[in-house]
Amino acid sequence: MSLAYVALGANLGDPVATVEAAFAALAGLPQSTLRGRSALYRTAPVGIETQPEFVNAAACLDTTLAPEALLDALLAIEQDFGRVRAERNGPRTLDLDVLLYDEQVLDTPRLTLPHPRLHLRAFVLQPLAELAPALRIPGRGTLAAWLPAVANQGIRRL
Ligand code: ADP
Ligand code: MG
Repeated sequence: MSLAYVALGANLGDPVATVEAAFAALAGLPQSTLRGRSALYRTAPVGIETQPEFVNAAACLDTTLAPEALLDALLAIEQDFGRVRAERNGPRTLDLDVLLYDEQVLDTPRLTLPHPRLHLRAFVLQPLAELAPALRIPGRGTLAAWLPAVANQGIRRL
């Protein structure tokens, strides 16, 4: 059994309802148990700043799905929510990313673990800190050590 952390993000339609429904979809994943879910956070968009605010959250799963199979399952959920893949960092109905999978470090064309930008984003670090305050990010030290650097990013717990 492995422990995986997943980031949830949405900024089109009704993002609160989407993220709530996405938690339910994660709870229904095969070979997996939803162990924990963070609060929802409202956050300023990164990159393209003229798009609506995001709602972000994080989840923790026990799973026997391999990392790539977990990614496939998450992408399938995104499809179910009608995500249209347009520009990078652009608006989306639902984005699900694998943040961490045990202590695995992986860099394939389809999957990078830990997620390469997780330590730079308040909207990932804050919900993760709620689930696992003492978390270590392989190759990057503790989560807690990265939090001060993102303290200036706009994020509000709902
Ligand atoms: P982003 O999440 O960076 O805004 P996308 O959701 O469109 O962009 O993801 C693009 C691709 O990133 C996915 O098809 C997937 O193959 C790849 N990817 C690499 N590492 C990860 C990861 N840790 N979690 C999710 N997707 C990843
Ligand atoms: Mg993604």
